[in-house]
Amino acid sequence: MTTTLRIGIDLGGTKTEAIALGEGGTERARRRVATPQGSYDGTIRTIRELVTALESDLAASASVGIGIPGTISPQTGLIKNANSTWLIGKPFDRDLAAALGRPVRLANDADCFVLSEASDGAGAGAATVFGVILGTGVGGGIVVGGRLLAGPNAIAGEWGHNPLPWPKDAERPGARCYCGKNGCIETFLSGPGLARDHGGTLSGADIAALAAAGDADALAALERYEDRLARALATVINIIDPEVVVLGGGLSKLTRLYDTVPRLWGRHVFSDAVATRLAPPVHGDSSGVRGAAWLWPARA
Ligand SMILES: [Zn+2]
Repeated sequence: MTTTLRIGIDLGGTKTEAIALGEGGTERARRRVATPQGSYDGTIRTIRELVTALESDLAASASVGIGIPGTISPQTGLIKNANSTWLIGKPFDRDLAAALGRPVRLANDADCFVLSEASDGAGAGAATVFGVILGTGVGGGIVVGGRLLAGPNAIAGEWGHNPLPWPKDAERPGARCYCGKNGCIETFLSGPGLARDHGGTLSGADIAALAAAGDADALAALERYEDRLARALATVINIIDPEVVVLGGGLSKLTRLYDTVPRLWGRHVFSDAVATRLAPPVHGDSSGVRGAAWLWPARA
């Protein structure tokens, strides 16, 4: 292939989105379809149809990168840690390569998010970027020198199933997590975690709107959330000392976080001052699909 076209696909729990990037990372085309629920073969077919449609629209062939909820186990070569459970235990990359007639690159969706934001988003130009997804779940990824940090377990940045640090008495033992433990960061910092802490099922945006209108319970829930996020991020800063922490996922839209959390995390960071920036995503909901396209380098 002599094309510079790069297709990125974000395989979400409910929607599958595809983007085609041309030279310089410019968006050429985009498509979005429903994710086939529970069907492995249907998922492969959907991805093949998206790639075929984009290449036909643009009359060019492309490289293909895919962001998935989970990762490929380096030990088995099979998918693990996916909440789209029909992928677990499957040789997804090899089956996709066979279906598409070319090699494909797969990465965790949080890794795709941080790669996009580190490449030409909120972390552009920074030597170290920690990307966080605060959504239905909590995930993370680390980019160093423009490249994703990838270790022998393929879990770099997966802080969501660490325990909430410096827990208060009322935070112990914490809610049961699907991973089998109690009090995981995800159980506090996910969208459902914030809703439960507030005592209902409201979204983060709704809770923030109530707080802005003077509702004391909503404000208290947000302040607890911010204190927990500050504590959880402080442990990451203590280990990798990132220049930028960029937030993604639904709760990254709570604009007050970028003001309140950096004022709180200094208490727990082992430093006289904290120069790390907390930033909203530049590409918003498109970061996952853009980062998937970035899994392949641009070619001349
Ligand atoms: Zn957990």
